[in-house]
Parts: sequence; C-alpha cells; structure tokens
Amino acid sequence: MKFNTKAIHGGQKHDPAYGAVMPPIYQTSTYAQTTPGGHKGYEYSRTHNPTRNALENALASIENGTYGLAFGSGLAAIDAVIKLLKPGDEVISTNDLYGGTYRLFTQIFESFGVKFHFIGMNNAPNIENYINENTKLLWVETPTNPMMNIIDIKTVAAIAKKHQILLAVDNTFATPYLQQPLDFGADIVMHSATKYLGGHSDVVMGALIVNDKGLADRLYFIQNASGAICGPQDSFLVLRGIKTLHVRMQRHCENGAAVAKYLTTHPKVEAVYWPGLESHPNHEIAKSQMNDFGGMISFSTKEDSLEGAIKVVEKLKVFTLAESLGGVESLAGHPASMTHASIPKKEREKTGVKDSLIRLSVGIEAIEDLIADLEQALV
Ligand SMILES: *Cc1c(COP(=O)(O)O)cnc(C)c1O
Repeated sequence: MKFNTKAIHGGQKHDPAYGAVMPPIYQTSTYAQTTPGGHKGYEYSRTHNPTRNALENALASIENGTYGLAFGSGLAAIDAVIKLLKPGDEVISTNDLYGGTYRLFTQIFESFGVKFHFIGMNNAPNIENYINENTKLLWVETPTNPMMNIIDIKTVAAIAKKHQILLAVDNTFATPYLQQPLDFGADIVMHSATKYLGGHSDVVMGALIVNDKGLADRLYFIQNASGAICGPQDSFLVLRGIKTLHVRMQRHCENGAAVAKYLTTHPKVEAVYWPGLESHPNHEIAKSQMNDFGGMISFSTKEDSLEGAIKVVEKLKVFTLAESLGGVESLAGHPASMTHASIPKKEREKTGVKDSLIRLSVGIEAIEDLIADLEQALV
C-alpha cells in the first residue's frame, strides 16, 4: 500500500459494533465483564481503549512499523523510552535538540543516575568516541530543532547495530510522509503528535513506533505501569489528522520551498536553514533520506540583536507568534526566548541558536500572503 492510502486506511477497520467508518470515541474508563476475566479484550482504559488502539494501529502503519503506542504528550513518549534504562546507563544524544527533551534528560533523568552526552552528529563516526559498555541508547533528532541539521540515520543505525545499542529517532519535524526511520534501521520512532500528525494545533500527544516485539512489550508495560496515556477524544483527533497528513505535508513542502527561496534573496537576511537548499551543508544526506524537505525553516537577520528579531516576529500578522509547529496555520517563534529558553545561553550558542534566530513553521495558507507578510515584517 502506498503512503497516501496508508494515511487513510492503514491499520484501520470499521467499528465492529455498527460499522461506523470512523472509530467512535469510546469515552469510558472501564468495560463490563460477564464473569471475572470474561471481557472482550478491554478491561481498563489505562491499559487499552478501542479509540486509542485504532490510532496506535494507524501510527504503526504510517511509520512502516508493527507496534504503535500513544502517550499524553511527546515528552511522555520520550519519558517512556528513557525508562527502559537503569542507573549507570548512558545515552548519546544530538546536541541540537528540542528544549523540553534536553530539560527532561538533564533535570529529571540525570538525578536517577542516567548519564547523557550531547554531541554533534553531523559527523556520524564521531559518535563512536563516546560509546562505552554502559551506552544503551542513541537519541537522534533530524532535522534538528531549530538549526535544521540533518543526521544520517542509516550511518547512525549501523553504529548502533554494531555496538548493540538502541537507536531512537524523534521524527516530529519530518513526519513519516518525508522519512521513515525504521526503514533505515532505527529501533524506535518517536513523535510529538501535537505537531504535524495532529496537524491542527488542537491537541497535545506523543507516540512511539517499533518493530521488535520484545521492545514493544517492554514499552507497553511502561505505558501501562507509568500511565502517561492519552484520552479517547484526543486519540480520535489525531487519527482524524493523520488522514490528511499527506495532502497537508505536500503543501507545507511547497510553501516551505517558496519561503526559503524568498528569504535567501532578502537583503536583510544573513542565513537560511532549510535542508532543501543546495547550500545546506547536509543537503545530499537530506536528499537521500527524505522525500521532500518540509515546512520548517530557521533564519537569522544581518542585524544580530535580540531586539531586532523580536521586532520582526511582533510585526508578523499572518504568521502567529507562538510556540509549537506543524499546524495548518503558519507560526513564527524566537527560539532563544521561547522554545529553547530552557537551554543555557552558552549551550544554545554552541549549536548556533543565536539571539537573532527566528524559526518559522510554514503553514498551508496562500503563499502570496505568507511572502507579503514576511516582506512587511522585514523592512
Ligand atoms: C514539541 C516537540 C517535542 C515535545 O512534544 P510535546 O507534545 O510538546 O510534549 C519533542 N520533540 C520535538 C522535535 C518537538 O517539536
């Protein structure tokens, strides 16, 4: 089945009760039993819920995986992955990553004895310098947030296999429409479904997708035992979102390409970070592992000041100044003061997140209106 068909039908069957084409929102915490243990596969909604299961099957299908798990947020999904580890275990992570992930790793899990190394993975073989017998997990974001670096998933997966380490890829920015990390050898794909999968800025949710049954069982155990699940209503919304993922992504990519091109020719713009540009340092890797380049773009202005960047984002009218990304509407953010404020300035600047950096989530509005908006804000 092709991706566009999978997005609509993958892992889905009509509801067995009345044939409803969309799974009903099973807003129930518990299920009647005829005799103790005599139930229809559902006992308690932390463990299983039919609406959540329908979504989890869809998630597995679009990522070319076997097992899907949905959580109350992207961070809850990451939290479940790190709970596979024990004190003394080590994780090697990309250094340019979502601020909340960095905060979870350093401010929660370090105090439980898990050690994290944050390194640049543009040069994948460099990872081996940090591997020792305690290394249990490689954590990769690609494209990275907000610098849009591209990590070579195939090469990193080969290193993980060689050392028998798990590889998890945060696929939030790319979505499975653009890249399917399990096909390149990743063990776990993670999503903030809050972003493109939901796609309408109306729900917070996270997801994991895996192929290995043993790994899936351990994660299902953690999902149920720790309990960071999502509710049936939210499951329904994300399942609904997934059904238009391919058409939305196609437009995000078209608009992203047009905005990136416009910014590269603007006299006030210093640098544009978008993997579809031939000048992007990892453009060749992006071409080899992504089907297109998405709608996430970061750029810096020649006037390198906090005030200058803030003035630009405040002037935007069609782009809304807001955290988050991946919805139908265009958003603009200022990483240094918003999404990445939880990363210390010194750490932030090491990876290129300057005070003047602006991040755009290019939506699916008319491109003429988006360009005109940038034009009036950049004067
Ligand atoms: C938003 C985001 C997360 C965290 O997800 P939440 O749903 O906000 O908990 C993790 N990774 C990336 C790349 C994100 O953009």
